[in-house]
Amino acid sequence: MTLNTDYLIVGAGITGLTLAERISSQLNKRAIVVDHRNHFGGNLFDANLCGIRCPKYGLHYFHTNHKHVYDYLSLFTRWWMTSRYEIMSWTDGKMYPFPICLGTYELFMERECTEDEFKEYLALNRIAPVHEGPPKNGEEAILAQVGLEFYNKFYRNYTIKQWGVDPSLLDPSVLLRHPIRTDRNCSRSTDTYQCMPYRGYLLMFNNMLEACRDNATLLVNTDYFDYKDKINAEHIIYTGPIDRFFNYQFGRLPYRSIRHEVKVYNARRYQYCAQVNFPNDDKKYTRAIEVRHTITGEYAKYGDTSKTAVIYEYPQKYEGGTEPVFPILTEEGKSTYLKYQDVALDREDVTFAGGLATFQYLNIAESVEQALATFETLKKRH
Ligand SMILES: Cc1cc2nc3c(=O)[nH]c(=O)nc-3n(C[C@H](O)[C@H](O)[C@H](O)COP(=O)(O)OP(=O)(O)OC[C@H]3O[C@@H](n4cnc5c(N)ncnc54)[C@H](O)[C@@H]3O)c2cc1C
Repeated sequence: MTLNTDYLIVGAGITGLTLAERISSQLNKRAIVVDHRNHFGGNLFDANLCGIRCPKYGLHYFHTNHKHVYDYLSLFTRWWMTSRYEIMSWTDGKMYPFPICLGTYELFMERECTEDEFKEYLALNRIAPVHEGPPKNGEEAILAQVGLEFYNKFYRNYTIKQWGVDPSLLDPSVLLRHPIRTDRNCSRSTDTYQCMPYRGYLLMFNNMLEACRDNATLLVNTDYFDYKDKINAEHIIYTGPIDRFFNYQFGRLPYRSIRHEVKVYNARRYQYCAQVNFPNDDKKYTRAIEVRHTITGEYAKYGDTSKTAVIYEYPQKYEGGTEPVFPILTEEGKSTYLKYQDVALDREDVTFAGGLATFQYLNIAESVEQALATFETLKKRH
């Protein structure tokens, strides 16, 4: 039997669900959303562990400067939990504040320092690229900001673990995602909105699906490539890896996958802050995230439980049996993507959205922003 629908949306992550909600509620069109995982929410899926809401695919901290993105998501979460995301980096036997700030420098120098001293250190140690113009890769970008010692301490090995390639092969933006500051502010983001949906992402997604009224159908455990012949859709929105859509005709794009291991400890707290990075030791994981810190509000709510959960992230190759989560932004990958982008532009029946399909690193807010802009384009067709 063939099913008819206005839209077939591939992927029930935040990109697919945003588009499903807008199309169903604003255009009153029918949408079928398929996801090959056994749940919706994509990488933002929350599981429940010893009474603690635990992100299955790594902690997801929402931050943006874009009010329209915040306002849109606020339609589906009754209120937000204001939060602060603290990161430390366990490097060469010491715990340093990260992203780099004055506190990092003081620990490095093992004494109290002034901002001017730190600026002087940076001015002396920065290494400008040998060529004209801005840095061309991640290594050059960090060397130009903090010099070799800090690059080796915090970036080089972490990047190799995280991405499986040398920083010199990556786009500068990959290593510049965290701000570098000379004052005492070591927070991960300076965005206006930094918060988490109070009852978690899953409830927010449930509310988005409810807002679709009866116009949207969600099918989990359903792979698009097994299902596509059974459905007749006016338009397809595809949020999976773009090379798979075109049957790898220009070769495989480089994507990275991550395995998460959750450990439960009989302790009220396990580590000093929400996230600890492990750039420079023999551990295979890049970071350990203790969910119960203030970031999700779980610690405040379940502060009297005697257990805590820590998620360890093990980056791995994207191959059979694993999920792609990020594009690896190498020169080769970017130029292969351009070939896919060219053929994608010829497909008027398909819209490609989300980081996997547009081969970009998009955070949550950027994904929603892109989905809302995509919706405006689709709306003009009707
Ligand atoms: C470890 C990690 C930590 C992160 N931390 C943060 C953070 O702190 N803050 C932040 O803002 N962002 C963070 N991000 C980024 C965030 O996860 C993404 O911005 C967001 O998940 C993108 O949503 P999406 O819907 O585009 O993609 P996804 O969540 O990947 O959803 C795509 C969906 O498509 C489905 N799919 C793919 N192919 C098919 C197919 N053939 N058939 C059916 N279904 C298919 C997949 O199963 C998946 O569910 C993090 C990402 C990772 C991996």
